[in-house]
Amino acid sequence: MKMDAESDMVENVVREVEERGLKAHPIAGAQRTAIGITGNIGVVEPAQFENLPGVLEVLQVSHPYKLVSREFKPENTTFQIGKVKIGGPDLLIIAGPCSVESYEQTLRIANHVKDAGAHMLRGGAFKPRTSPYSFQGLGEEGLKILARVSQETGLPVVTEALDIDVVDAAAEHADMIQIGARNMQNYTLLKRAGQCGRPVLLKRGLSATVTELLLAAEYVMDQGNGQIVLCERGIRTFADHARNTLDVAAIPAVKRISHLPIIADPSHAAGKRHKVAPLSRSAVAAGADGLMVEVHDRPEEALSDGAQALRPAGFVELMEAVRQLAPAVGRSIPTYASSS
Ligand code: PEP
Ligand code: MN
Repeated sequence: MKMDAESDMVENVVREVEERGLKAHPIAGAQRTAIGITGNIGVVEPAQFENLPGVLEVLQVSHPYKLVSREFKPENTTFQIGKVKIGGPDLLIIAGPCSVESYEQTLRIANHVKDAGAHMLRGGAFKPRTSPYSFQGLGEEGLKILARVSQETGLPVVTEALDIDVVDAAAEHADMIQIGARNMQNYTLLKRAGQCGRPVLLKRGLSATVTELLLAAEYVMDQGNGQIVLCERGIRTFADHARNTLDVAAIPAVKRISHLPIIADPSHAAGKRHKVAPLSRSAVAAGADGLMVEVHDRPEEALSDGAQALRPAGFVELMEAVRQLAPAVGRSIPTYASSS
C-alpha cells in the first residue's frame, strides 16, 4: 500500500481479496502496510487490485514461501512474550531441562537458569523419543508443573506439542508452543499450531533444507500466526563426532531470505555437554537471535538427554561467555525485571 494509505483503504483491499476466495494477510511495516495474498492456485492477476485506492504496486513473491520471505516483509519480525523481547538486538535465552520430571526438579532448574539470566524456561511434557521404551514425558501433569513453575519464577515457558490433540492443552499452560524436529513436516500439526493463539518455536527437521524449514513456517503463518521463532538444532550428516551437525550457515542463510527470528539449540546438536558452549558462541557470532540450552542439576539422573545437559555452573559460564561476545556482533543480553 502507499505510505499515506488510510486504514479503510487497507480494509477495502482485504475485502476485495477475500471476495475472490483468497486469503489476505495485512502486515503493518515501519513505512507502509503490505497485504499478502495466499490461497491462489494459479497466478493472481495484478490488474484486479492495482487500481484500488491506496494500492502502490502488486508484486509477485518469487520464492515458494511467501509470507515468511523478506520480499513480502523486509523488516525483521519482532514481538514480545510478556516482557521478553524477541527478534530485535536483544538475544533470547531459553534454558531448562529436556523433560519435566517432577515439580521439584523443574522448580530447582528454573531457579538456577533464572539466576544465571535466562529469559524463558523450556521443558518437555510430551517427549518424542526414538524408543517406545524410553521415558515419554509426564503429559498433562507436566504441563501443569510448567505452568506452576512459570507462575512462581516469573519465567515464561515453552513446551513441545507432540500432536494435534495436545496443542490446546499446551497453549493453555505454556507461553510458546514448540514444534519438534521430527514434526517439522507434520502439516496438520503446523496448521493447528498456527491457530492456537501462541507464538510457535519451530525446530528444523533432522534432514530438512532451509527451504523446507521456511515452507513449514509458511504453514503456520498462513493460519494468521506470524509470531514464529525458527530454531537450528543440528542436522543428520556423516559426521559422528557429535550427535548432529549444527548448521551454522543456516543462520545467515535464513536471515537473508526471511524476516523471522532464528535461534540455535546447541544441546541437541552437541549431544555432549562439553560442546554446548563452543556451539553456542558460534551461533551467536553467526547472527542467531538467541539460544535454547538444556540444563539439569542432576544430569546423571535425568530421564532424557542427560549427557548434553549443562550443569547450573556450566550454564552460568556459558551466559558469561555469551555476554562478552554479544556486543561484538551488535547484540546484548537483557535483564528483565522479575515479575515474581
Ligand atoms: C527437545 O527440544 O527436547 C527436542 C526433542 O528437540 P528436537 O525436536 O530438536 O529433537
Ligand atoms: Mn532434549
